[in-house]
Amino acid sequence: MADDWPIDYATLAPYYALNDRMMGISGLAGDPAYPPKEAVMPPVPLGRTGTTLGRGLNKLGWHWWAADTAMATQDYEGRARCINLGHCMGGCAQGAKASTDITYWPQAIRARVELRTGCRVHRIVTDDEGMATGVLYFDADGVEQFQAASVVIVACNGVGTPRLLLNSASARHPDGLANSSGMVGKNLMFHPYASIYGYFDHEMDGYRGPPIGTWSQEFYETDLTRGFVRGYTFQINRGQGPVTTAYTGMRTGKIPWGADHHRAFRQIFCHNAGMVAICEDLPEAHNTVTLDPVLKDADGIPAPKTTYTLSENSRRMLAHAVARGTDILRAAGAWDVVSESPLQLAGWHLMGTARMGTDPARSVVNEWGRCHDVKNLFIVDGSVFVTSAGVNPTATIQALALYVADSIKQRLANLFD
Ligand SMILES: Cc1cc2nc3c(=O)[nH]c(=O)nc-3n(C[C@H](O)[C@H](O)[C@H](O)COP(=O)(O)OP(=O)(O)OC[C@H]3O[C@@H](n4cnc5c(N)ncnc54)[C@H](O)[C@@H]3O)c2cc1C
Ligand code: SF4
Repeated sequence: MADDWPIDYATLAPYYALNDRMMGISGLAGDPAYPPKEAVMPPVPLGRTGTTLGRGLNKLGWHWWAADTAMATQDYEGRARCINLGHCMGGCAQGAKASTDITYWPQAIRARVELRTGCRVHRIVTDDEGMATGVLYFDADGVEQFQAASVVIVACNGVGTPRLLLNSASARHPDGLANSSGMVGKNLMFHPYASIYGYFDHEMDGYRGPPIGTWSQEFYETDLTRGFVRGYTFQINRGQGPVTTAYTGMRTGKIPWGADHHRAFRQIFCHNAGMVAICEDLPEAHNTVTLDPVLKDADGIPAPKTTYTLSENSRRMLAHAVARGTDILRAAGAWDVVSESPLQLAGWHLMGTARMGTDPARSVVNEWGRCHDVKNLFIVDGSVFVTSAGVNPTATIQALALYVADSIKQRLANLFD
């Protein structure tokens, strides 16, 4: 089904906590679906959506809890708190929504990290001993440069990292750098999503506030009676803004073009709410990132090619999620329910293509992110994931990056043993 990770939750727990503080994560301690942990600040308010769907979940006796959310609900580290200005996807004028440009980067730059933007690395260079000596890249003007380095850390994520390793092939590494296992680019995982939305008689929050307020992990663990292994998280979402309501309404036939258009729009605008199911995808060797034999980017670097088939296990999980999500919405009082599965516009989280493991024959990096084959080359992104988990990936990517950085710091003296 899937290999196990070489590290456990307890190893990463301090780094999750540090990342929660760095990003300013809001949430509520005590979620029975998680090991005990502290919340940095209070959760995003439930609002009408959280309350209505919470009632539905309570009727069914199913788990739900306030979600961890990367929105500051209190003034935090120079960032103003969330004031429910609107839907957050387009960016947060308030600075409440966390992103690394306003959390990690200012601190890194104050610590004299030099950030060079607009550059594309096309090759990691190695010496006769098989150690990385630096990278060749095209700068913002398209001029090739060499940056020497005693340690190279790659964070190009689940497509960019295997692409770079494969593009770094040489006479010594004909199948790509760090690829003696043949695992570079294999086991690509996404998060298949289903979207399940209901329409309600009473007004909901619509787009007024962060989209995510609560979640349910009732169906997270494996139960073979369901016909699939692993499981999923329901991320309960507020409704949609005017444009998305109109766009979705027309696509699903809820809003006709012509005489009835305005009435139909008014009936559903701010009257819908629902959820997405984030399904755990399985690692499968035939889902891959390879190099495109023809396509190149503007600098002439071979482009990545992804090959992916949605598995039968994921299909069954998605169907289960649509059926149970519909149960929740009906129990919450929705007069109609619509779903889209798999959701085309979400879930493209990139994982698994340079996986972590203790066995160099079956993995690319070891249990602290170091490439088995190149002892001063590290990877700190979603490509090292062994399994995908049925949750959003970024907190784990960030916790892993902090853990690998700490491991490098602690073991640097032995790096070249
Ligand atoms: C539409 C969408 C919505 C999402 N929503 C969520 C969410 O709600 N919650 C969540 O947890 N996650 C979400 N994600 C996933 C999240 O964006 C990623 O997990 C996160 O960005 C990973 O961070 P990263 O720095 O490892 O990789 P990335 O953000 O992908 O950054 C990798 C960087 O490397 C650069 N790069 C690649 N190759 C090279 C090269 N050869 N030379 C130089 N630079 C290179 C890329 O240009 C890119 O800037 C979402 C993703 C998408 C697409
Ligand atoms: S609702 Fe979203 S965009 Fe608005 S202040 Fe809060 S976090 Fe920012």
